[in-house]
Amino acid sequence: MGMLKKLMIGGGTVAAATLVWADGFGVKSGNPVLPGVPYEVHDGTRPQPRVVENAGAVSVKPPADAIVLFDGKNLDAWESPAWQVKDGVMIAAERDIVSKQSFGAVQLHVEWRCPAGRKVDGQSGGNSGIFLMGLYEIQVLQSHNNKTYPDGQATSLYGQVPPLVNATTPQGEWQSYDIIFTPPVYEGEVVKTPAHATVIHNGVVVQNHSAFLGTSTHKRLAEYPKAHPEKAPIRLQFHGDPMEFRNFWVRPLGKIDEAQP
Ligand code: MG
Repeated sequence: MGMLKKLMIGGGTVAAATLVWADGFGVKSGNPVLPGVPYEVHDGTRPQPRVVENAGAVSVKPPADAIVLFDGKNLDAWESPAWQVKDGVMIAAERDIVSKQSFGAVQLHVEWRCPAGRKVDGQSGGNSGIFLMGLYEIQVLQSHNNKTYPDGQATSLYGQVPPLVNATTPQGEWQSYDIIFTPPVYEGEVVKTPAHATVIHNGVVVQNHSAFLGTSTHKRLAEYPKAHPEKAPIRLQFHGDPMEFRNFWVRPLGKIDEAQP
């Protein structure tokens, strides 16, 4: 998300304003104010998360009960063959891809990197995203020495919740995400408990059981749909950048005292 340069095409003045917005740093967005905070959606004046240097990717082998979504060999776990596999890495290309299998609550591990030497500027150049249930984006963005609106940087709940700190490693280095996701709980059409995510980025806690305001969107306040699936595929975003992924696995999470499949 965040591909606003293309959406706001107009005269020269608009194009100039759009350039400021697309970078999103240091300026108000003009979008709605988020609940509970004095900041707008994609607010470039929101405080930048504190930078934590010397974090580094944590590589975790898939435990025996994990479902491996990419082990370096092929894209068999994914519906679309649009992405490429090279040197044990899957590379974003052409369009979003979705997992063949559907998931609800999961523990997810993945490692990713933005290739060295690419020009990265705000939301451009180093952008992807992991959409839990295809609906809730944990932002993937090359956020080392690359400022953008805080609710759009790496590990943000995109457009909703910035990370506690910025633990992104330099461009060209691998990064790890460990995500614990729980879907919303509904009573009829009412959301009783929102969806939550805890995210550990390069070994650093960046989202501590953060609540989603609704399904991911941009420029608008997120909302929940009236009806929600119990399980849905994971979607990976292609945002125009050849972002690389490896060692991708999930563990569906059951409940205490519940017989496991
Ligand atoms: Mg994204």
